[in-house]
Amino acid sequence: MQVPFVDLRAQYETIRSEVHESLDAALESMDLMLGPNVRAFEAEFAAYCRTRYAVGVGSGTDALYLALRGCGIRPGDEVITVSHSFIATVEAIVRLGASPVFVDVDPHTYTMDPSLLARAIGPRTRAIVPVHLYGQMADMEGIMAIAKRYGLVVVEDACQAHGATDHGRRAGSVGNAAAFSFYMSKNLGAYGEAGAVTTNSRAVAQEVQSLRDHGARRRYEHDEMGDNSRLDEVQAAVLRVKMRYLDGWNGLRQQHAERYRDLLQDAGVDLPEVRSGATHVYHLFVAQTGDRDTVRQQLQDRGVATGIHYPIPIHQQHACDGVGRIAGRLDHTEELVRRILSLPMYPELQDEQLSCVASSLQSCLLTASQLRVGH
Ligand SMILES: *Cc1c(COP(=O)(O)O)cnc(C)c1O
Repeated sequence: MQVPFVDLRAQYETIRSEVHESLDAALESMDLMLGPNVRAFEAEFAAYCRTRYAVGVGSGTDALYLALRGCGIRPGDEVITVSHSFIATVEAIVRLGASPVFVDVDPHTYTMDPSLLARAIGPRTRAIVPVHLYGQMADMEGIMAIAKRYGLVVVEDACQAHGATDHGRRAGSVGNAAAFSFYMSKNLGAYGEAGAVTTNSRAVAQEVQSLRDHGARRRYEHDEMGDNSRLDEVQAAVLRVKMRYLDGWNGLRQQHAERYRDLLQDAGVDLPEVRSGATHVYHLFVAQTGDRDTVRQQLQDRGVATGIHYPIPIHQQHACDGVGRIAGRLDHTEELVRRILSLPMYPELQDEQLSCVASSLQSCLLTASQLRVGH
């Protein structure tokens, strides 16, 4: 049996006619510049995240950059974040002329360890960017407490966490602002590039609205140099259809995760941990094993596709040579990249596929451990 890592076509087939109808209406209207679908999606997405505002932008990377800028982060400022993430988290900081400061993650939840923040703060530190990695929110209670004590801005990288909660609060609603990505394979994905900034601050929302449209508050009147990063009407038409399914799809991801847990409880792999008070939306289901590379190759030979998110920590990427600073040690970050293995995870996964992944993984782990002890 072949099990792909994700299957965007399987999802498309379940919503094809609604998507075509929505696209057709958007194209018939030819109201394509910040049109009715963008406005409606922004309202719907803000309501979903339980924030006052959502501003549609060109991508998740742009959302991070614009959210930081909208919150007043300036060139020369320091922004504390994690190295265990997708590079875009740091690209946004660097694009702003700010400087990343890396702290380690908790090895069980894979997210920022708030107990390391106080020691990472320096005279130029202005903001914290926690990443809600794999679909679970970072420990926002701990992070917000430090931010409050030191007067720092918090911008959540919620690009993998649409719908996740922490103590009843939705991803994207806790910090000063948050960035979402609607990249194709995210829990809520467009059919092209798209993103959004959420915030409860009217001033931040207005600033991001201006920056995404060349710094114009009114047409052809430019208060500052902005960007061209508007959410486009066609992607918004797709996103509005998919929004209606998001909770159902997240529910299926959670069911699949429970199934993996049942099937793999005695397999000898570390399974992702859910912090108490949090709900995880499993953008990725990431296990850990010391025999990762052997196991991954054998799974591939059996037709089971897996991923590594991510194989090189950001601070060790060539792009980061001479960029930012490391606060303390990044031992967990550096250890995790050798052990993490993302299993197939998408709403449309079938039970036979889940069982196939689990049983294949179990026998690959057994073979790997036999190889290791020299049988
Ligand atoms: C996807 C992602 C981004 C970037 O989003 P794009 O829409 O691809 O620009 C940023 N941070 C994280 C953690 C992501 O997963």
